[in-house]
Amino acid sequence: MLRHRPAANFVGVLGWPLEHTLSPVIHSAAFRQVGLDWLYLSWAVEPDDLADAISGLRALGALGANVTMPHKETVMAHLDELSGDARTVGAVNTIQRIGRKLVGHNTDVDGFRRFLEEDAGVDPRGMRALVLGAGGAARAVVRALDGLGVAEVAVAARDAEKTSKVVALAARAQGRSVSWAGAATSAPSCDIFVNATPIGTGTGDPLPDVTWREGQVVVDLVYDPPATALVERARAGGSYAWGGLGMLVHQAAASFQIWTGQDPPLETMSAAALHAIGTLRRDH
Ligand code: NAP
Repeated sequence: MLRHRPAANFVGVLGWPLEHTLSPVIHSAAFRQVGLDWLYLSWAVEPDDLADAISGLRALGALGANVTMPHKETVMAHLDELSGDARTVGAVNTIQRIGRKLVGHNTDVDGFRRFLEEDAGVDPRGMRALVLGAGGAARAVVRALDGLGVAEVAVAARDAEKTSKVVALAARAQGRSVSWAGAATSAPSCDIFVNATPIGTGTGDPLPDVTWREGQVVVDLVYDPPATALVERARAGGSYAWGGLGMLVHQAAASFQIWTGQDPPLETMSAAALHAIGTLRRDH
C-alpha cells in the first residue's frame, strides 16, 4: 500500500548546464551530519526559463537555493531583496526564503575571507594583491581583500572595461588595472596572487612563465584538480599556495548557515567535496 510521505524541506541548485556541480554532495552530507531531513535537488534551468523557475521555487515552497553559472547575475531581477555583498558584487549565489520573500546573497565574499583567515591563516593587511580575471569570482575576491585591508589591488583580465569595473570595487585599497599581457610582469612583485579564471581546470597554468618565490601567497580558485599546476609550481618556488577547495567549502558553509541557522559541519563538507572530486576525476 502506498503511504503518503509528508512534504520534505528542500533546497537545490539552479544552473545551466549542471554537469560538474559539487553542491548537492556537499550539502546532502551536511544535512545528514546534523540530522536534518532535507533534500538538496539539482535543477538544470535554461536561461529563458529562469523567471519560471524562480516562480516555481516560490510556489512549491523551496527553503532556498544555490545559483550557479550562467544565472548568478540575471537572477537578481527576480528576487525581492539583496544582501549588501550581493548588491556590491552584482551576483547572487544563494537564495534564502524569508516568509514569502526571496532574498539574494553572495557567499563567495565570505567564503574567500573565511578561507584566507581560517584555513590559510593569512592576514593580508597592507599587502599588494594581484587578481587574475574579471568575472563574478574576481569581484567577490576584490571585495573580500578590500574589506580585509590590503594596500593595493591590481586586476588583470582580457577585457579592459570589465577590468576597470572590478578595480572600482576597491573602496579602501589603491586599485590598479593591468593588461592581460602585463600580468606576468606584475606577478613577481605582488604579495598575494589570486587566479579567478577557470584556467588550470583539468590542466594548464594561467601564468606559466612566472617564477613564484618564497613569501608570496598564491591562491587558485580552481578546485579540480585540488592542486593545480599553478599551485604545484608556486609551492615548488617556496610560496604558500592553496587550491580553491577551501573557498568552495566555506561558501557552501555560509549558504548552509543562511538556510538552516545552524553551525555548518565544515569537516564533513570538506571530506564530501574531496571525495566527489576524486569520483569526478575517475569518471573522466
Ligand atoms: P566568470 O564570471 O565566467 O569569469 C571568468 C573570468 O575568467 C573572466 O574574466 C574571463 O575573461 C576569464 N577567462 C576565462 N577563460 C579565460 C582564458 N582562456 N584566458 C583569459 N581569461 C579567461 O567565472 P567566475 O564565476 O568568475 O569563475 C572563475 C573561476 O573561479 C571558475 O573556474 C570557477 O569555477 C572558480 N570559482 C571557484 C570558487 C570556489 O569556491 N573555489 C568560487 C567561484 C568561482 P573574459 O570575460 O574575457 O572571458
